[in-house]
Amino acid sequence: MSEIPFKGEIRRDYITGSDVVFTFSRDKRPKDFRSEEIMYRNAENCPFEYGNENLNTTIKFVDKPWKLRLMYNKYPIVNEELTPHESSDFFKKYINYGRSYVIVDTPYHLQKFHEIEESMLQKWFNLIADAEKLAYSDKKIEQVYTFRNSGSISGGSLYHPHTQVIGFTFILPIIKQEIEIIKNNHGKCILEGALKKEKERVLMEDNNAVAFAPYGSRFRGHSIIMPKRHIDYVGKLEENEIKSLSRFIKTILEKNQKIFGNHSYNLIFHELKDNKELHFYVEITPRFSNFGAMELSGLYLNSLRPEEYVQRFNETH
Ligand SMILES: [Zn+2]
Ligand SMILES: [Zn+2]
Repeated sequence: MSEIPFKGEIRRDYITGSDVVFTFSRDKRPKDFRSEEIMYRNAENCPFEYGNENLNTTIKFVDKPWKLRLMYNKYPIVNEELTPHESSDFFKKYINYGRSYVIVDTPYHLQKFHEIEESMLQKWFNLIADAEKLAYSDKKIEQVYTFRNSGSISGGSLYHPHTQVIGFTFILPIIKQEIEIIKNNHGKCILEGALKKEKERVLMEDNNAVAFAPYGSRFRGHSIIMPKRHIDYVGKLEENEIKSLSRFIKTILEKNQKIFGNHSYNLIFHELKDNKELHFYVEITPRFSNFGAMELSGLYLNSLRPEEYVQRFNETH
């Protein structure tokens, strides 16, 4: 019998009902976080540097010389090759078919994301919209998940600032949960309802967008940044909304840097194309520790009330 090379698969954990993506070749991917020394040494060999463009297949460069780059993920958690699979009644197994792209946020290895100019962040939004449209052009893709992992305890493995855009053939559990909550709210938008009540926790606001620290912040310095208009995904954003969101994200990340010092964080897009219920928003979750047993139980611990965070945010200039 000839060996079929392992391309990855998704298995259902029959105890908790969670789906687990078993990736292929991820253990061979470069790791930057073993030590500071390796992080700096890797800048020379980093595939995201000027001069190393031949190491990945680029889909689009922005500006000349390029400042942003959209490319295929060399170490995808889902891939475009279908995996042979079989499922029994007890052991459930799925194809991990999907689309996996990377955006290099800056050509400079050591530049922090919050140091990137606002005008480039606007182009970053547009490039994400391009990547998501590309993923959604594949009719098998149900949901695109866009995020940035930043820092050693964010779950990221490469130091160089980058964004991931991943298209799945199913809807992710967190998005399903959010839609369920909206349905239980008679289909009324949760975020628009929340805005009327979150006044004391607003961080920034203008005519197009608003940012606030949610009442039940799951993380210290947790923030939600959203357009005021009810839209389903990043591809529907208008220029004035992109300008406001870029300014808010940059300001929040800059201030978080001053409030918390150097820290890890995740930046996550919550969205679902062609879904009427979900209101597109961006979430920033500062990370100060790895998940422990408490979080693995589904219960979050937070030592900073959002009201205190807003106060510190307002005092920081
Ligand atoms: Zn680099
Ligand atoms: Zn809404």
